[in-house]
Amino acid sequence: MKAVVLERYGPPEALEYSDIADPVPAEGELLVKVAASGVNRVDVWIRTGKYQVKLPHILGVDIAGEVISSTVPQVKKGERVVLFPDMPCGRCRYCLTGRFQLCKNSSRLGSSRWGGYAELVTAPAQTAIPIPSGMSLEEAAALPVNYSTAWRALVTDAGVRPGMRVLVVGGSSGVGVAATQIARLAGAEVISVVGSDWKEEKAYKAGASFVVNRAKKDVVEEVSKLTSGDGVDIVLEMAGTAFWEKALQCLAPGGVLVTVGATTGDQVSFNVRPFYRKYQRVIGSGMGTQGEFFRIVELAAQGKLRPIIDKVFSLKEASEAHRRLEAGEHFGKILLKP
Ligand SMILES: [Zn+2]
Repeated sequence: MKAVVLERYGPPEALEYSDIADPVPAEGELLVKVAASGVNRVDVWIRTGKYQVKLPHILGVDIAGEVISSTVPQVKKGERVVLFPDMPCGRCRYCLTGRFQLCKNSSRLGSSRWGGYAELVTAPAQTAIPIPSGMSLEEAAALPVNYSTAWRALVTDAGVRPGMRVLVVGGSSGVGVAATQIARLAGAEVISVVGSDWKEEKAYKAGASFVVNRAKKDVVEEVSKLTSGDGVDIVLEMAGTAFWEKALQCLAPGGVLVTVGATTGDQVSFNVRPFYRKYQRVIGSGMGTQGEFFRIVELAAQGKLRPIIDKVFSLKEASEAHRRLEAGEHFGKILLKP
């Protein structure tokens, strides 16, 4: 099969389009013909060696496609499926207490096992969720990482509720778009932060009530104005170093900062005194569970969540797709198609 193989960590050119042997599904696994695979920030962290994996490696955490062969009776050949990337062990103390996202022995497509930057992929049969009719394979491939992360952070961890105000940092990213839609669906008001003019209108279309262009305006001042000086109840943070202190300054008393990324750097500092005096909280979060993802697929099938696809690249153009993501030239999800 054709695949994009990572033989060494490095720049986007390290992604090599090559011919390799077709994967063979083990007992309990499926062989899936990849229709589309999402490009995620985690792919960049792996490509550059920030997250180490076993090399050679095939990236691609988000995968939708058609089942070519199945080793289990529950999944049939020809089914259209979207794969939930994580497969928890079911045996560790976290799994046994229902906290699957914390599993110590979890496998993950595109990380601990080969992923979707290929024509074919194998995956545990339990991870395959049928794609509802009416949903395209591309839309399905845009869901797993972005929507599971945004759902986990906002709904499960930060407890978003009707009437709350949510600040989405990185409003044009895949997670940012998902978070905007999920917060709106929960009845909250969204202030979306974007970095360039052309993204403003798109952020409004994605569902934001207010959009702040950080290239032109001071986010803390704008949030203060928009909330009559109160601040927001939830900040969804993913920038890390560059925005952390400002993010906390945007937070209302009793507010929650939930962080799911560190695109500009890992180290942050902040003034702890106003933080405890205002009864605020900081929560670390990440991908949700398959149960949460199943709910997302249902809501997307009903048209209540609608992934925004930025651009579709061919598998051959994987390096180009990474460049676009790293340069922040995208709005929404970048996909690769074999
Ligand atoms: Zn486990």
